Amino acid sequence: MLTIDVAAIAENYRLLQEQAQPVICAAVVKADAYGLGAEEIAPTLARAGCQHFFVAHLEEGIALRRILGAGATIAVLHGPLSGTEADFIAHDLVPVLNSLDQISRWATTALGSGGKLPAVLQVDTGMARFGLSETDIRVLVDDRQQLNAFDLRLVMSHLACADEPDHPANAMQLALFRQIRKILPCRRMSLAASSGIFLGPEYHFNLVRPGAALYGIAPQAVGPNPMRPVVRLQGKVVQVREVPTNTPVGYGHSAKTTTSSRLATVGLGYADGFLRSLSGHGSAWFNGSQLPIVGRVSMDSIILDATALPAGSLLPGAMVDLISPDQDLDALARDAGTIGYELLTSLGSRYHRQYIHS
Ligand SMILES: *Cc1c(COP(=O)(O)O)cnc(C)c1O
Repeated sequence: MLTIDVAAIAENYRLLQEQAQPVICAAVVKADAYGLGAEEIAPTLARAGCQHFFVAHLEEGIALRRILGAGATIAVLHGPLSGTEADFIAHDLVPVLNSLDQISRWATTALGSGGKLPAVLQVDTGMARFGLSETDIRVLVDDRQQLNAFDLRLVMSHLACADEPDHPANAMQLALFRQIRKILPCRRMSLAASSGIFLGPEYHFNLVRPGAALYGIAPQAVGPNPMRPVVRLQGKVVQVREVPTNTPVGYGHSAKTTTSSRLATVGLGYADGFLRSLSGHGSAWFNGSQLPIVGRVSMDSIILDATALPAGSLLPGAMVDLISPDQDLDALARDAGTIGYELLTSLGSRYHRQYIHS
């Protein structure tokens, strides 16, 4: 069972807004709000005061416009792929223009439409992923005609190492972004996502774009997590058995009991996004006791060592916690050898989902 505390997401939005004030706090709700459900979450964020949303794909933008109705600004990070320009206009979506090719097609569309079209420009300050290079920027500012076709809403860039405050790339990207602001000025500039917000006010410019922190993921690699937890993941015990020492457990017999043991089989596995890399690493929790995962994660089940619990205390039908105050999302992700982002977006649609608004 996946319990999503929508009120905690709204609270996290307010915390981030406070941290970034007085600048605008947008919300990134790509990948169905990091797998948690944009249908529930986006309207909650809008009610919390959010007016600027980011998604990755055109299709996500169209779905979000249907959810939010008219009014909110929705920017599409991947920009207009060829042939999709009319869809952007029809659904009132603002493309993030990442390349000279996207710029020229959106400019042509604008000229054909007889007015200026809204646009966000992304510049690359040191990630080599999306956005204009320094050379591209020169080409663009030398020919102002294309820029004149746009109502330029925002110039943005993205930090590669913001979760490590001491990483030298942060200051380098900041310096380059400031330089770009001089040659490509815009009334709104944006550099920081969740982690960047916590690098300090010089990273905030005019708008910040958190995603992960809204959903409870720790924005910095070290120190306490300032965000409220959003997700609780529980699995149901299907079977409990007592086995002698030296009993091989699970696929490949990758584990063997080292004492007479009590094993509990729980009905969730890698088909539920409970990553197979948690085989032999992760744990579940029950009433404050840690129950290690024994052997491999199967498609639909895991096996827990419940020997530490008194006989009869863990019975079929009981729920154990996988993500909870005992073990937060980031801790489980570490055990899986990944990050909270991947864990969240992997969880999938198989769980019974419960949204709480308390
Ligand atoms: C995903 C994304 C964000 C949000 O990042 P978080 O680390 O989840 O806060 C912001 N900006 C861009 C360009 C992104 O791709």
